[in-house]
Amino acid sequence: MGKIAALIVAGGRGERAGGGVAKQYRPLLGKPVLAWTMEAFKSTDLIQVVIGAADGEAFATAAAGQKILTPTTGGPNRQESVRLGLEALAAHSPEFVLIHDAARPLVSPALIARVTGALREGGEAVVPVLPVTDALKRQEANGLPAVSREGLFRAQTPQGFRFDAILAAHRAQRGREAVDDIAIAENAGMKITTVAGDERNMKITAPDDFALAENLMGGQFRTGMGFDAHRFGPGDHVWLCGLKIPHGAGLIGHSDADAGLHALTDAILGALGDGDIGQHFPPTDERWRGASSDKFLRHASDLVANAGGSVVHCDVTLICEAPKIGPHREAMRKRVAEILGLDISRVSVKATTTEGMGFTGRREGIAAQAVATIRLPA
Ligand code: MG
Repeated sequence: MGKIAALIVAGGRGERAGGGVAKQYRPLLGKPVLAWTMEAFKSTDLIQVVIGAADGEAFATAAAGQKILTPTTGGPNRQESVRLGLEALAAHSPEFVLIHDAARPLVSPALIARVTGALREGGEAVVPVLPVTDALKRQEANGLPAVSREGLFRAQTPQGFRFDAILAAHRAQRGREAVDDIAIAENAGMKITTVAGDERNMKITAPDDFALAENLMGGQFRTGMGFDAHRFGPGDHVWLCGLKIPHGAGLIGHSDADAGLHALTDAILGALGDGDIGQHFPPTDERWRGASSDKFLRHASDLVANAGGSVVHCDVTLICEAPKIGPHREAMRKRVAEILGLDISRVSVKATTTEGMGFTGRREGIAAQAVATIRLPA
């Protein structure tokens, strides 16, 4: 059987979705939108992504661990980007290609199978469509007359094609604007077949679409908690939430004694139901002497990723009389977000004293507690 390639178009800026970063690189349940989209096509033989010229670094992060071809840089518009992607795929001689928008990360295996099935049954150009159910109106100078829904459909992607035919059509129609690849196929006289689309296969366009997409993705959400404390000892700085903070004492511990990151690591392990930090990094092990605790946190988040899930939120409370946490709070949030690959809005760092009571009140050490929420596949 001939090879099936996926061509994912991720060259646009998607600024309507807000957030500064191109929407395909913004996190959805803790992972870039594009990472979900690429994963959805892992059943195909080849995955070619077309990216924006300035997005190389963001793409490398999104593509970590994915089996895909070297990305192609897109052109000035979507149509030209698709053509460049097809040209790159030509070297691999696929029989069919599924052209898909990066901003539709919820595409299901069932929809991909419907499009592929129609191609295997002799289809030349296949488009998933959905009925229009809302009433349609047209804005006119003196009114809002109804427009008939008769014969109207909404077109989605992936749109599937015989590879040679759509490549030839794109080459022949360079510079002639078309709304999508099906339109290009139609201009070239290819036979169009429709299959049922999927309401869940939404296109992330507006800022609110991220929350909607996350709700549609579902999965099981789990919460874990962690607690840790370290005693003050000689030194001139402490490590807290991944930050080195000058202080009149240090914290005693086998590693860097970062109680904040230790509590958070335990919270994630707790959510996973996978033991605790001491089990994964025994204090008897010389490898972890003086270790920087971001390693422990990253290990815990890798365990979540290996289970097909992601960390979606965390909240750390540092408990001490000194040092003052307030001035470092934002930098701590930023550092934790960086370690976990999360948007900063999903990371909280708080601080409290115990009003002079107990061991933290007597300034004997620093304690931390943390809560983490993770999402695992349903
Ligand atoms: Mg500890």
